[in-house]
Amino acid sequence: GLFLDRIEAANPTLNAFITIDRDGALTAAREADARIAAGTAGALTGIPLAHKDVFCTEGVLTTCGSKMLANFVSPYDAHVVSLLKQAGAVSLGKTNMDEFAMGSSNENSHFGPARNPWNPAHVPGGSSGGSAAAVAARLVPIATGTDTGGSVRQPAAFCGVTGIKPTYGVVSRYGMVAYASSLDQGGAFGASAEDCALLLSAMSGFDPRDSTSLERPAEDYSAALAAQAGEKPLAGLRIGLPREFFAEGMSDDVRAAVDAALEQYRALGASTVDVSLPNAKLAIPAYYVIAPAEASSNLSRFDGVRYGHRAASYGDLNDMYCKSRAEGFGAEVKRRILVGTYVLSHGYYDAYYLQAQKLRRLIAEDFKAALTQCDLIAGPTTPTTAWALGAMGDDPVQMYLADIYTIAVNLAGLPGLSHPCGFGAGGLPVGLQLIGNYFAEGQLLSTAHRYQ
Ligand code: GLN
Repeated sequence: GLFLDRIEAANPTLNAFITIDRDGALTAAREADARIAAGTAGALTGIPLAHKDVFCTEGVLTTCGSKMLANFVSPYDAHVVSLLKQAGAVSLGKTNMDEFAMGSSNENSHFGPARNPWNPAHVPGGSSGGSAAAVAARLVPIATGTDTGGSVRQPAAFCGVTGIKPTYGVVSRYGMVAYASSLDQGGAFGASAEDCALLLSAMSGFDPRDSTSLERPAEDYSAALAAQAGEKPLAGLRIGLPREFFAEGMSDDVRAAVDAALEQYRALGASTVDVSLPNAKLAIPAYYVIAPAEASSNLSRFDGVRYGHRAASYGDLNDMYCKSRAEGFGAEVKRRILVGTYVLSHGYYDAYYLQAQKLRRLIAEDFKAALTQCDLIAGPTTPTTAWALGAMGDDPVQMYLADIYTIAVNLAGLPGLSHPCGFGAGGLPVGLQLIGNYFAEGQLLSTAHRYQ
């Protein structure tokens, strides 16, 4: 009740929620009470949370931030949603996002942009901006998100909360509306690494309904947090600093906050080493070929036939497809479909898509080499703090460039975490990114936990 009241009071300003599910939440809360009384409660029983509106929820709208799905009610729950229901978490609603998770500012949402609680004139980041804003404003203690090229870590940084994207394949994509399937990965937002550990433990694990889900036992990430203690809890930890991340592009206020955080890591006993990711600068062009290519294929299912928006008037079947898609998709989604279709088309496939796949491989090998010289990698999550709404104007490429530190991680399939590390100009939060080897989620969370 308390959290629902807070959401209803804050949402006219923050627009963090697309759907507030008061009735469903109160029913789930009563069930949680019964479980607690019966002594069958789990770690998340009765804990309020919110789901990014990309996760299908039975009986509750799943819009994906799009007019195409503005009235879509899924007949089933995403795997993540059902796991969290089983754990007893109480979903309060669905959070705002860039349309089909395409964007870095939440300004591409059909339902209007979510806003940054630290300054509502600024963006919360994207695409999971609603989830990050909701946690930052304490409208929910934890929230789910997805990260295809930074969509958990970047809004976490912009909103001053902690966010983790696990290794590709750890969280099931079943019932998560697909953007770029080889990159999409569910993730967790919380006010701390400890809260993220609780949420991620409950939402991960093998699911036979996702062919890329990894067949390994679910981990208890909270247990990892308890592992180290003492005066220098991070003694022996080698943190790699990719020189390309610190070379240029970072604003002065972000650099100052990141440097101070690294100093604190050294005080906790960690050492820092210079490493190199020579191909990291190629991540943006590679990503913005691969992601649109996969998106153009994934989004072909929205044809107005079985579900989703259908034009009110049309001629023949082809005209219905064209009008429904022209009306249902926003400008950025259309741009990505055009780019994706182009790079996959005969005669251009070798020049663009195949090249991008080769770059992807080089980028993954860079990380592999760097992670032989250190235990984990640290750097800024974003080049700047949250920009003002509208500041990117009509220049999509400028916004793509803001993803420079996050997308290489998705191309390699590695886990990444962003935790708050102070404030920049205008009192806006700065995020520090930690990147680990495959399945190093526990290590990332425990490292961030020591910092916090
Ligand atoms: N900003 C990136 C994009 O627009 C990443 C989004 C995401 O991770 N979903 O594709």
